[in-house]
Amino acid sequence: MSVDDLLRFDRDHVWHPYTSTTRPLPVYPVASASGVRIRLTDGQELIDGMSSWWCAIHGYSHPALVQALAAQAERMAHVMFGGLTHEPAVALSRLLAELTPAPLDKVFLCDSGSVSVEVALKMALQYQSAVDRPEKHRLVTVRGGYHGDTFHAMSVCDPVTGMHTLFERALPRQLFAPRPECRFGAAWNEDDLAPMARLLASHHHETAAVIIEPIVQGAGGMWFYHPEYLRGLRRLCDHYQVLLIFDEIATGFGRTGTLFAAGHAEVAPDIMCLGKAITGGTMTLAATLATTAVATAISEAEPGVFMHGPTFMGNPLACAAACASIQLLLNTPWQDRIAAISRQLQAELEPARSLATVADVRVLGAIGVIETRNPVNMAALQEFFVKQGVWIRPFGRLLYLMPPYIIGPEDLSRLTDAAVRAAAMVH
Ligand SMILES: *Cc1c(COP(=O)(O)O)cnc(C)c1O
Repeated sequence: MSVDDLLRFDRDHVWHPYTSTTRPLPVYPVASASGVRIRLTDGQELIDGMSSWWCAIHGYSHPALVQALAAQAERMAHVMFGGLTHEPAVALSRLLAELTPAPLDKVFLCDSGSVSVEVALKMALQYQSAVDRPEKHRLVTVRGGYHGDTFHAMSVCDPVTGMHTLFERALPRQLFAPRPECRFGAAWNEDDLAPMARLLASHHHETAAVIIEPIVQGAGGMWFYHPEYLRGLRRLCDHYQVLLIFDEIATGFGRTGTLFAAGHAEVAPDIMCLGKAITGGTMTLAATLATTAVATAISEAEPGVFMHGPTFMGNPLACAAACASIQLLLNTPWQDRIAAISRQLQAELEPARSLATVADVRVLGAIGVIETRNPVNMAALQEFFVKQGVWIRPFGRLLYLMPPYIIGPEDLSRLTDAAVRAAAMVH
């Protein structure tokens, strides 16, 4: 297939994320990717500032991951997980149970982030029903969140950016507190938790769980908030017999400078969702972890089982890639690397703050954000970035960088330079 044929068929028949088939946006054909470089079919190389939606933390085609995939493919790409088990799934589950906060001890493997959120929400509902509180069936969350695109996950996304109006008739109605306003690194103000405390005071009798992205709200606004919020939230949940779910799909595996964002607050949730970077960006995989208390309650009550079981549960290829990726992370000086990326993002994005077009600049771990005053023209900026030899994909009023942890200072400067110049172009 020629590249022209490929692009023509793509335009006429292939749906891309959040796109129209009648007014498709341009897409760039990729031939290969390695390290921090994405190579287009015309030979042009783009420095990756996105880690392919936060996933490719070691860059592309890392030999350790390629080797793990190849070796596992030789043994078996897949077997069903009902009634069978295998080393890749067990080794991964052991790693996850060891690395996540101590009470999280039971691991449910699934296929994608949205599914791991569905699983977490089902666990919470089954738990409340198991402990004889079936009236606790609703969910509490904060505005500005993002938890995935399936129905129940969508019901806890921000009501505006999460398209709640469009699906109003089909979507369960959940309860929303304002997003946490105290910034990460700023002084804590106890009032920040008051709306959540009021919401739980009046609705705890019908609330199964609070679900929240710890510290970093990702796709819902790239917002970093104070760890004290999570400590207060833990106390409220304990007080009202409401489960606490942390969605660490975007923050897990080092991105914020701690292995999991929960580490900033030293708070353990009852249920935790992992995904995105879990396989280092090679395969689709996610996991939902629960405490023994949650798992035992579910298992001891009718119907005596947790009601979920994806066809590709525990896929050996994905589990082998995840084990290799996590080992690789732990065997590299990831904390030093992320601290260095963080310092450089801070220094090099800071000049954007003085631009008339810019509302805010913020950095946490290996995440750098320029928030513009007006929405960006994504198609125009995309073309600008590709001309600059970088891959950055802004959305809404957010120009952000989330590079692979292996990026060197010169490549990172190319990204920050392009991002600052783009911010000046937003009208
Ligand atoms: C990406 C994301 C999801 C959804 O994951 P998918 O793999 O896209 O289904 C859920 N929660 C958070 C915080 C995410 O960043």
